[in-house]
Amino acid sequence: RHGSEAIQPWVAYSDRLREEDEQRIALTRELRQAIAENQFELHFQPKVDLATGTLIACEALIRWNHPTRGLVSPGVFIPIAEQSQLIAPIGEWVLRRACQHLREWRDAGLQPVRVAVNVSVVQFQMGDFAGQVRAVLEECGVAPQELALEVTESVFEQESNVLLAQMCELRDMGVWLSLDDFGTGYSSLLYLQRYPFDEIKIDQGFVFHMLDAPFNRNIIEAVMMLARALNAEVIAEGIESDEVVQALLAIGCRSGQGYFYSMPLEAEDFCWLLEQRSLLPLGRH
Ligand code: C2E
Ligand code: MG
Ligand code: MG
Ligand code: MG
Repeated sequence: RHGSEAIQPWVAYSDRLREEDEQRIALTRELRQAIAENQFELHFQPKVDLATGTLIACEALIRWNHPTRGLVSPGVFIPIAEQSQLIAPIGEWVLRRACQHLREWRDAGLQPVRVAVNVSVVQFQMGDFAGQVRAVLEECGVAPQELALEVTESVFEQESNVLLAQMCELRDMGVWLSLDDFGTGYSSLLYLQRYPFDEIKIDQGFVFHMLDAPFNRNIIEAVMMLARALNAEVIAEGIESDEVVQALLAIGCRSGQGYFYSMPLEAEDFCWLLEQRSLLPLGRH
């Protein structure tokens, strides 16, 4: 009522905490409903050969079409799903839906590319994840070589032989393993060489700022040397300009992903890319 009545900071703070709690509780409840009512879909973002603009693979990204809130970002609801164990049914849905899409594309006469699915470390801790992957691949009639799994460096946080054994089992099956957001987490070189990654994804942060400061570019070069030592491939994510493409090519990085080429696309639009195979930007031939 009066401008002079200042809100006590601790009141504002506890109000905010309560609001966050309420939001989390509401979202958890709504996530349960979303699973039951199948409010999710997958979008696909191309992975591109930077030198030729050719489509080489894609990443499946979950989208939640909330009946009243609209599109809720996975950055918001995946952490909540991880805290509430709901990541188990959601993760299994993502895996199965991605494999179904692969199967549908093949049945439609398209030549699919490898689809990468993001996997939360929690999924590995909930039992026989490798077995689940094997079962879903068989159920959908998809070869392990057509599937990639992206995990972040948080896999290294708890030294777990169970987790490592599952990753080795997946790798032995022929599933491609990709280390996501590399450079943002806790990575020991010892772990890196112990885990069977096929690909390292350089985190967007380094790529966004590649041209601002030599530091970021030097880090990317260092990651590429590391990947070579580990016999893994490198892909840069978060490419938003042709200048960054050129800078990446100049240091020998040949694969990338980002809005410069394409936003994540609805399955229907992605089919069009599967036919085209090319993402060469306008003006460069
Ligand atoms: P991520 O796996 O590192 O995925 C990359 C994120 O960056 C995606 O956001 C993508 O849309 C966005 N992105 C791609 N290119 C660009 C670019 O050029 N510029 C910018 N600014 N952003 C770009 P999205 O789809 O919102 O996903 C956020 C995160 O949520 C993902 O990060 C991943 O950690 C998680 N996530 C998404 N889908 C799933 C899923 O099915 N399961 C699990 N466990 N996590 C998922
Ligand atoms: Mg990812
Ligand atoms: Mg990433
Ligand atoms: Mg991420």
